[in-house]
Amino acid sequence: MNKINLEEKDMPKYWYNIQADMPNPTLPPLHPGTKQPVGPQDLAPLFPMELIKQDVSKERFIEIPEEVQNIYKIWRPTPLFRAKRLEKMLDTPAKIYYKYEGVSPSGSHKTNTAVAQAYYNKQEGVKKIITETGAGQWGTALSYACNMFGIECDIYMVRISYDQKPYRKAIMNSFGGHVYSSPSNRTKAGRDIIEKDPQTSGSLGIAISEAIECAVQEETTKYALGSVLNHVLMHQTIIGEECLKQMEIAGDYPDIVIAPLGGGSNFAGISFPFLRENIQKGKKVRCIAVEPASCPKLTKGEFRYDFGDSAGYTPLLPMYTLGHNFRPAAIHAGGLRYHGASVLCSQLLRDKLIEAVAIQQLECFEAGIIFAKSEGIMPAPEANHAIAQVIREAKKAKEEGSSKTILFNLCGHGHLDMQAYQDYFDGKLKDHFLNEEELKSGIKELADYPSV
Ligand SMILES: *Cc1c(COP(=O)(O)O)cnc(C)c1O
Repeated sequence: MNKINLEEKDMPKYWYNIQADMPNPTLPPLHPGTKQPVGPQDLAPLFPMELIKQDVSKERFIEIPEEVQNIYKIWRPTPLFRAKRLEKMLDTPAKIYYKYEGVSPSGSHKTNTAVAQAYYNKQEGVKKIITETGAGQWGTALSYACNMFGIECDIYMVRISYDQKPYRKAIMNSFGGHVYSSPSNRTKAGRDIIEKDPQTSGSLGIAISEAIECAVQEETTKYALGSVLNHVLMHQTIIGEECLKQMEIAGDYPDIVIAPLGGGSNFAGISFPFLRENIQKGKKVRCIAVEPASCPKLTKGEFRYDFGDSAGYTPLLPMYTLGHNFRPAAIHAGGLRYHGASVLCSQLLRDKLIEAVAIQQLECFEAGIIFAKSEGIMPAPEANHAIAQVIREAKKAKEEGSSKTILFNLCGHGHLDMQAYQDYFDGKLKDHFLNEEELKSGIKELADYPSV
């Protein structure tokens, strides 16, 4: 049996909130002005109250609303595959499984939280949601979800992706989303950046500033984030909850769980339910987050307070960061070009409950091609980071003659990222080695903000 399907009736009916089980709670987010912990009212202009509550909840399981479950069932439960052909190609004794989130309407895991967020906004009378998107997956997912609930959707898309991925924009438009290249002239944050650096390729941090600036201007307009925040990570845990059931059907259990990390949501989604088993039942699964070597916040950044965006509109978050003005090189894994990491993943890494590794992009694309050849699915460039680490672990298992079980998150397909693969074939992609100056300059700017 290579494909392990879960029946629709067995789809999990709750999300898992890891805050109920963390040995050390996360530090509070701080107000950018007062530097005091933010309260629910500070966030009310941006998010519906139910999501603000989920962010600070300590309840272990939160029920998925029936309306959300019904939309999930359009593509969920997603399949789990045993990658037998990949195992053979690598000639490894390791068993490799992957969870495939690319079957969702937007082609990635992001739809899991997009539908939930659109639902809670609708419940609270919101008419328009404004957001940013890096590679385009989040904008696609949110425009799909907003369309489902009859909410308008405006999207600030990082300029480099806007230029590289025109088809992403066409999909967002098809779902009814309005897409703007960021930085734009529509906001103060955008105009300031354009004035300083007219040729900028943009960044997620800038696009977030633009979206927030617009969202706070009207009561029935809210903001949404596709990663990083606690509630977003929680919505993704349906991935890992399904995996627990599917691994049981397969009669197996992972020794290693691997996922790429941009802000941390797909990593959290697949790994947090397994971390619960580690904490509660003494299991010893290694959970490994893989980041690009050109944006190495987990392995080379500092754990400290920083903003989530460039202009400093968001609360200060305690997280691993390269500094909110860090401008990652224009690697093609757009979804991983974020300067910080979610507070939950950062705290777990600090407490050594998870591991992190950084990999250069050529090794990642090479891994993606090996996967495409063996399993017949084009992975998103972000997912290639996980595959590269899977191949490293599979080779290690071969050298050691040990039979490890590896599970990874194939968080999206790469059908709209084929220009990146073409560039790889044409020899245009390069590895990028950050020097000390590049690494430290963004962090140095944080000297005046509270330390942890
Ligand atoms: C957005 C995205 C990522 C990175 O975001 P996380 O929140 O870290 O999951 C990774 N892969 C895909 C396919 C994405 O769309």
